[in-house]
Amino acid sequence: MIKKQEDLSKYSNTELNIYNIGWLDATSSFASHNTSNNSSNDIVEQLTYILKRERVNLTRGIDTCPLCPEKNRKIYLNRDDKEHLLGISELWIPNDDETKVFAAPDLIIHYINDHGYVPPRVFVDCVFNFDLNTNWSGANMYERFIAEKYRQ
Ligand SMILES: [Zn+2]
Repeated sequence: MIKKQEDLSKYSNTELNIYNIGWLDATSSFASHNTSNNSSNDIVEQLTYILKRERVNLTRGIDTCPLCPEKNRKIYLNRDDKEHLLGISELWIPNDDETKVFAAPDLIIHYINDHGYVPPRVFVDCVFNFDLNTNWSGANMYERFIAEKYRQ
């Protein structure tokens, strides 16, 4: 079950510099674009590359879309002749100097593509500036943090 969080609020359960993006629920209101023109294609493309590169915090179950009229339907992203199941992980994206991280549900790709959700500009910039060949890993960052925190 997705818990609604305001965009750019602090990501819970950690002292790390992580911020929420795209944690929508059925009551969320958001700036939206027209999904019938293809203005969102570039960011959807880039987010798909990021999704294929690394999924962070895989969930135990499958989250479905709170905005779709049909409830409890699994959401797939169709790209490159493949179906990618969404609602099972997060996407973590650092800012340019890696001092901040944005954490979004993978369903954000569906929200942008099908519901016209427009993420905050600062996030969009980081998505486009993200180097797909970097060694940076959200999962590794989180593991290092946990290891240090609980080291005796
Ligand atoms: Zn939906």
